[in-house]
Amino acid sequence: MQKRTLIQQAARSKKIKHDLAPRMEELVPASIFHSEVHTWAKRIGVAPKEIRLRPMKRKWASCSIRGRLTFDSALLHEPAAFRREVIVHELLHLKVPNHGKVFKGLLNSYLAQAAH
Ligand SMILES: [Zn+2]
Repeated sequence: MQKRTLIQQAARSKKIKHDLAPRMEELVPASIFHSEVHTWAKRIGVAPKEIRLRPMKRKWASCSIRGRLTFDSALLHEPAAFRREVIVHELLHLKVPNHGKVFKGLLNSYLAQAAH
């Protein structure tokens, strides 16, 4: 999942720094992030081969043809709803390798379910 523009990215990271300064405890532990990914993988019915978390410059996440998912460790500083969006997006690529109508339909329905 692409990070949009450098400007948005810069704005976001500034905002994060600003938001986190007084309340560092809002950082989500990596173990929680991994369990979020596993929970969604089960729900969607996919089995990622490997889940990695590391700093990424241009993307929030990526998936390899072999089913290895990599997530930007900066996601640990993001709100739960945004993490969910990135996690569901990337896991869905294990089913649908593009961003076509089927992909968008599934993404929207999973995210809508999560909102309830
Ligand atoms: Zn994508």
